[in-house]
Formats: sequence, structure tokens, C-alpha cells
Amino acid sequence: MSKPLKPKVVLGVAAHPDDLDFGASGTMAGFAKAGADVHYLIITDGSKGSEDLNLSSSDLIKIREEEQRNAVKAIGGKSVTFLGYPDGELEVTLALKKDIVKVIRTLKPDVVITMDPAMLYSAERGFINHPDHRAAGQATLDSVFPLARDHMAFPDLFANGYLPHKTPTILLTNFDSNNFVVDITDTFTDKIAALKAHKSQVGDIENAKKWLTEMAGMIGEPAGYKYGEGFVRIDLRQ
Ligand SMILES: [Zn+2]
Repeated sequence: MSKPLKPKVVLGVAAHPDDLDFGASGTMAGFAKAGADVHYLIITDGSKGSEDLNLSSSDLIKIREEEQRNAVKAIGGKSVTFLGYPDGELEVTLALKKDIVKVIRTLKPDVVITMDPAMLYSAERGFINHPDHRAAGQATLDSVFPLARDHMAFPDLFANGYLPHKTPTILLTNFDSNNFVVDITDTFTDKIAALKAHKSQVGDIENAKKWLTEMAGMIGEPAGYKYGEGFVRIDLRQ
């Protein structure tokens, strides 16, 4: 499991702008520094993520897209695609899977990073995982296997030149458990820069930096790294 990853193309798929930056941006920055093309796919429009009573949803959508673009730049990413599904209402549908399959077949990633849909809640830590996160993770896993792989899934995509693709490795963010820790000591400042870009979400960056530092230290330590990000890694036998 500890075999290092050297992907050429990485695709991160998440529900909201900022999800990937909290969970995986140190790792994604490291892949980019090592020469990979790193892409983000953000499924919802982030239109519910504000407590500002004077801010309209349409303004928030624009603000959050811009913030996500800046975060992608901060980690050396190559592109970000927004699918624009309404925030807070995400369902695991065939239409969503088709949208994700289209991106997978276009970019042909070696590594797909998404959120672990098995993470339903943590009684210990007192939280319920956002349903959009679970839906995004589930739809992405279903898209990687079997839908992106099978040419007879979505025959209209195939007819239009979206050829099947097998993704060898999936990294799932799951904040309770991991079987793979990535050393982000050298990219931790990029991660902080990416989170700084999400001004509408991260009000107090110094406070965020404090708990992110603690968390990265706790995850990294057992693997012998100063800072780490943890994942459930699946290498598909195909
Ligand atoms: Zn989120």
C-alpha cells in the first residue's frame, strides 16, 4: 500500500468549492510539483455556503468559483470544471454519473481523488458528513467503476469519441481512517495558500492554519512525516 504514486494526470472530484483544498490540496500540490496535470471537478455551485443574509445565491456562486480558481492556481493545478448542480440537493443520479464519466474519459486520470461515501457520520467527533459529500463520492466511485471503463455504458458518449478509461488508483478522503499517508511537509504552505483563497468560507485563516497544522501533524507522525494527508487508497486490479 505504501508504494509511492507518480501519476501523470490527477482528477479531484468534490461536491463544493473548498472540499478538495481541505482534504487533499497538499497531495495535489505535490503531484503538480512532480509534473502531473492536476484537475479539479466541482459538482455543486456552492450556493448555500454562506451565513451572510445580504448575499444573493447568484453572487455567492460567482465568488466561490473565483475562489476555487485561485486555489487551483495556488497548488499549481491545470484546470477546474464546475458542473453547477444546486448546493445542498445533490443526489446520486445517472445524469450526474454521466457528467463525471465524460470528464474521466476526457482527462484519463491515473489517480482520482474524491470523498469517501462510506463516511456517514462520526459520533465520536460529533458530526454528520454532508449529504452532498456522500453523493459526490458515491457518484464518482460508480463513474470510475464500471461506467467510465465500459464502452457500452453511455453509448452516446462512446459514439461522440469519449473512449473508455480505466483509472488505476483512487484516493478517498476519510477523516477518521486511512491506509495511505502522503508527505505534505513541502507543500503545506501551498495547502494554506489554497485555503486562503476561499475567503468566503475560511473567515479566520490563522485559526484554520492552527487546526490544519495540528491535524497534518497528527496524520503525518505515524508515517514519519512532519505533515501528512491521509487517504483510503484503492488500487484496482483490472
Ligand atoms: Zn463541502
